[in-house]
Amino acid sequence: MKQSQLFTRTSKEAPADAESANAKYLVQAGFVDQLTAGVYTYLPLGLRVLRKIQNIVREEIDAIGGQEILMPGLTPKKVWEDTGRWDSIDVLFRLEGAGNKEYALAATAEDIVTPLIKQFAQSYKDFPVLVYQISDKFRNELRAKSGILRGREFNMKDLYSFHLTQEGFDEFYEVAKGAYLKVYERCGLQAIVTKASGGDFTKKFSHEFQVETEAGEDTIYIDKETGEASNKEVVEEADWDNTDKYEIKKTIEVGNIFPLESRFSNAIDFKVPDENDHQTEIIMGSYGIGPSRVMGSIVEVMHDDRGIIWPKSVAPFAVHLISLSSKTDQKKIDGEAERIYKELTKSRVEVLWDDRADVSAGAKFADSDLIGIPLRLVVSDKTLDQDSVEWKERASTEMEMVGLGDIKAKVEDWAQA
Ligand code: ATP
Ligand code: MG
Repeated sequence: MKQSQLFTRTSKEAPADAESANAKYLVQAGFVDQLTAGVYTYLPLGLRVLRKIQNIVREEIDAIGGQEILMPGLTPKKVWEDTGRWDSIDVLFRLEGAGNKEYALAATAEDIVTPLIKQFAQSYKDFPVLVYQISDKFRNELRAKSGILRGREFNMKDLYSFHLTQEGFDEFYEVAKGAYLKVYERCGLQAIVTKASGGDFTKKFSHEFQVETEAGEDTIYIDKETGEASNKEVVEEADWDNTDKYEIKKTIEVGNIFPLESRFSNAIDFKVPDENDHQTEIIMGSYGIGPSRVMGSIVEVMHDDRGIIWPKSVAPFAVHLISLSSKTDQKKIDGEAERIYKELTKSRVEVLWDDRADVSAGAKFADSDLIGIPLRLVVSDKTLDQDSVEWKERASTEMEMVGLGDIKAKVEDWAQA
């Protein structure tokens, strides 16, 4: 894509109320726009990143057998009453429609997916069932702060599992844990599996995936001897004050997996006959990842004082090609840049070409650092004197000259590495 065509622009000023790196850089670089507290528009650059994260999640959840569906955001009061949650979810947005009919905006979807699966899975032969969606969720969060880390409308992948046996469920729970760890690794994040309370649903623990960052709201305690991490807010432990025993980290929760036992299936009397025609309870689990929060977390972990440093896997573009203005032969610079742009694009490398005329080299470099595309290639009088382009990776301080004839192969190798 040509940067001259991009309708968004970077801004010199960070938003006045930006408390965290993601709130600052994502707005300043033109990835997102805040409509109101906790509610964001994803602009072209930001949507490309969000889609990449969603696709990583999709690939890993498909790989463990999840079937993708899309449930509505607007949901009738009845489904929440049936599970007893209309009044108990404090962050539920409740609203009234025509004819005094009451609705909630989906904050999560156990209440919708359980009756859905009940319609289709009517015999033991139909199990297990694994369904997921990637959709916006709405929560009336008391404090929406820290940019896209905590939104009132935010993107979530939610997977639901339905098993007839505890062993089947336990086995899948571990498989899901493995898939989650792959998602974070592919996104360039080191996630710590953390024991957390099972809440109202189970006496067992749930597990959170926590990423270390100052911008996080959680505190986890890592047992120095066993390496086991626990969320202090939820796991009761007499020993928390023993600072010799634990390493303490500030973190953000980027995912959560939850044994639900038969809490939701029993609520709507969803049971099926087993091989011996005995009515059997259905054991559920729910598994959430917030792609929008993952995106914000990546910025928190990967930035410097000039801007974002995207990992290749989720970057809006792989290459930021920059053509500078010439003192002698603008046509030559533009021509070479266009040739490289077409050559790379043709071999499916995603390139943002800063082709803007009348923008200084300094301003182009500052924008490039702010936006954070992993590889910067510069075409200028100086580089063309050496029949080369300048190669610089965002995460490194080193630069090198690469011959015009070598650039395609080198970029392809780099993109695949
Ligand atoms: P938190 O403890 O941070 O409020 P939660 O435990 O309520 O989150 P879940 O209901 O388990 O979150 O949601 C699954 C995932 O959705 C979370 O792990 C997180 O990645 C994401 N998520 C939850 N709430 C928000 C939010 N307000 N804004 C952005 N992402 C969110
Ligand atoms: Mg949580």
